[in-house]
Amino acid sequence: MSKNCISSYTLEGLTALMKELGQPAFRAKQIFHWLHQKLVTEFSAMTDQPKALLAKLEEGYYIAAPAIARRQQSKDGTVKYLFALADGNCIETVIMRYHYGVTACVSTQVGCRMGCRFCASTQAGRVRNLEAGEIAAQIYAAQKDIGERISHIVLMGIGEPLDNFDNVMDFLSIISSPDGVNIGMRNISLSTCGVVPMIDKLAEKKLQLTLSISLHAPNDEMRSKMMPVNDAYPVAQLIAACRRYQETTGRRVSFEYSMVRGVNDSPATAKELAALIRGMGAHVNLIPINPVDGSSYSATDAENVKRFQSLLTDLGVNATVRRRLGSDISASCGQLRREEAAKEGRK
Ligand code: SAH
Repeated sequence: MSKNCISSYTLEGLTALMKELGQPAFRAKQIFHWLHQKLVTEFSAMTDQPKALLAKLEEGYYIAAPAIARRQQSKDGTVKYLFALADGNCIETVIMRYHYGVTACVSTQVGCRMGCRFCASTQAGRVRNLEAGEIAAQIYAAQKDIGERISHIVLMGIGEPLDNFDNVMDFLSIISSPDGVNIGMRNISLSTCGVVPMIDKLAEKKLQLTLSISLHAPNDEMRSKMMPVNDAYPVAQLIAACRRYQETTGRRVSFEYSMVRGVNDSPATAKELAALIRGMGAHVNLIPINPVDGSSYSATDAENVKRFQSLLTDLGVNATVRRRLGSDISASCGQLRREEAAKEGRK
């Protein structure tokens, strides 16, 4: 029988589990503190728990604690981890330093099935979803390694967060809990390629996080070539879902726009983009694409990115150019895992 991940239980879930095990309710909070505040990785470290309970937990459960398989540090302070999970699968996590704090970019799945043409994470498809505790443990392991508190999270690593909805919701509950590391929802961004029904489902939760949409193109012809998900949920439907999301949550969405030379970077495309999202108060993050193996895409040069940005700004759309952190360590997600898999002849 395979063990369950104890780190994946929300405080509510843990309370129910303790009840099932015939334990007093206060044990749930104590164990939650051990797991998500003191960040222990062994049951034996929970010194205030009865031995019999610990033995029972040991028997049926494990604590998510990824091992650092590889670690790379960029000149700009960005750190990238290849983490090995309990079952041997690998995921990536990146730590970035900004003036406002330390941000962790975490993975939500092993691989991805969305098929975006420019993305390394999706090349071999999806292997499995990450458990809530496996998503959180990336933050804990990185925090211990750098010895600094992680203050912000972006769900922009490997995987599509809205394709692992329930586990991602549990992760958000765990990570923002005052009984855990207490990272506020306003410091969390969730990025999606645009799974429309799940955007609506997320809106109903009325969370205060930032929803970030990987738009990358303003029309169906262009976007479908870059992102197969667009065939299922075309641009008009996606933008309508964003408007509903803003309406329901009172939070503005932001758009990611990775710039590919000769594909989505012309002045006419900037105008089309501005016309599409003007009036939403949304913010656009521009970033030159990071070319990955097996893709014919190359990056728009810095000058043209700037020109695209000014055009958007002139047309009333707020746009910034993302700093490219960690480009000297192939920090674009999915690249490290692909390198490692190729070495080992795995997916
Ligand atoms: N699946 C989610 C989150 C993970 S990808 C999503 O699609 O949003 C995080 C961001 O990186 C997305 O905006 C994605 O489109 C972008 N991205 C992926 N590969 C890239 C590359 N090679 N260069 C630039 N951006 C890339």
